[in-house]
Amino acid sequence: MPDPSLPRCRQCRREDQKLFLKGERCLKHCPIDDEKRRKPPGMHGDNVRRRKVTEYGTQLREKQKLRRIYGVSEGQFRRYMDEAMRRRGITGENLLMLLELRLDNVVYRMDLAASRAQARQIVSHRFITVNGTRVNIPSYLVRPDDVIAVHESKSQTGTIKLARESSRRKGTPEWLEYDTATMSARVLQAPTRSQIDTEVQEQLIVEFYSR
Ligand code: SF4
Repeated sequence: MPDPSLPRCRQCRREDQKLFLKGERCLKHCPIDDEKRRKPPGMHGDNVRRRKVTEYGTQLREKQKLRRIYGVSEGQFRRYMDEAMRRRGITGENLLMLLELRLDNVVYRMDLAASRAQARQIVSHRFITVNGTRVNIPSYLVRPDDVIAVHESKSQTGTIKLARESSRRKGTPEWLEYDTATMSARVLQAPTRSQIDTEVQEQLIVEFYSR
């Protein structure tokens, strides 16, 4: 879990941007929408905003933002970066693709959860199967042709019903084929950058790790 000591709204205020870490609730009462409460957290929030941001600072903030959006720890994030660098292609795009292929993110993309944090809980509590086998590891990376579904014993439970109702219909991305009736999705391909709507400048993150 990223920054367990930092409440979710504080994480957004730190990045001065809505990261939608609380799902539906973010659409109703959000301190970022309130100009007075928008300053960065802490006693010296006003000073933080006034301070000149260095190139390093900009890269660091972009890295922290992406890490917070997907809810991964520093160590995990570093490992994704190493893997992204090892793979062929554009490192920044590889990084985003790896994060998207996490099982908790896929559950979120399937609209089975209102936030990635909720999706992580659903996976940890053994609600989800991959190719018919229960998988309770949120960081599990799915692959093309994998079928992700809600385990039959859990599909009618209040948790899933509530999560689906509270989930904003985001629309399933093109790289997933979603079947509403069976609440399952097949991975058609690894997502390309244009299929990932995460607003981040990944090149800055690559530069951060290349220093
Ligand atoms: Fe809090 Fe959500 Fe607003 Fe972020 S987007 S500050 S988590 S309400």
